[in-house]
Amino acid sequence: MKEKLNCSTCNAIVEITMLKCDYCGNNFRVNGKSAALLKLKDVLEEMLINFEPKEVISCINSSVYKEHPIIKFRLSKAEMLICLFDSQNIDSQKFCDIINRISQDTFDYKAEFINYISLLLPSLHISLYPEDYANILAFLRNRNLDHDSNLSNKLTEQVLISELGVKFMKEYLFYTNEKNYINNLDFLKKKEYLEKRYNLKLTNLKF
Ligand SMILES: [Zn+2]
Repeated sequence: MKEKLNCSTCNAIVEITMLKCDYCGNNFRVNGKSAALLKLKDVLEEMLINFEPKEVISCINSSVYKEHPIIKFRLSKAEMLICLFDSQNIDSQKFCDIINRISQDTFDYKAEFINYISLLLPSLHISLYPEDYANILAFLRNRNLDHDSNLSNKLTEQVLISELGVKFMKEYLFYTNEKNYINNLDFLKKKEYLEKRYNLKLTNLKF
């Protein structure tokens, strides 16, 4: 993803991975407003890695750079972490609103954001109801936001975890992992039962 900001000396648009401004030679990473913005970005990224979304939000709210796309992108990440991990179940309305807001920025951010959510899912600590799953899938399709179905597939795994239970999913994953295969009647029976139940649930979820 190519993130951009304005050089603090000549105001030209520069990619943040560049060492100096191509136009005026200013070291924008060290000097002026652009340096402060990049420093804030690094602080926010660190907080996101540490799963501190509330700290990210309060840090952004008190910043003069809160309207900058670079900062708004981190705000959306924090909001998504709260939406996924801080409630009993994923609220599809909130989930889609967050994606909608970041989609109003550049295409780069949109794709990067969808990718970010995909990496967070599935999780045993998240629950997703079939109705919310259907809403989110419809939203992604209508907006053409998930070309390779990567996020949709992750959401399918997530709803199956919620529907079948963590214990079932752990067993299913164990029995269907080739490394654990045993040529034993009890094992095979159990594996067949788990696969049947899993596939039945999956079929019922298809839209
Ligand atoms: Zn410049």
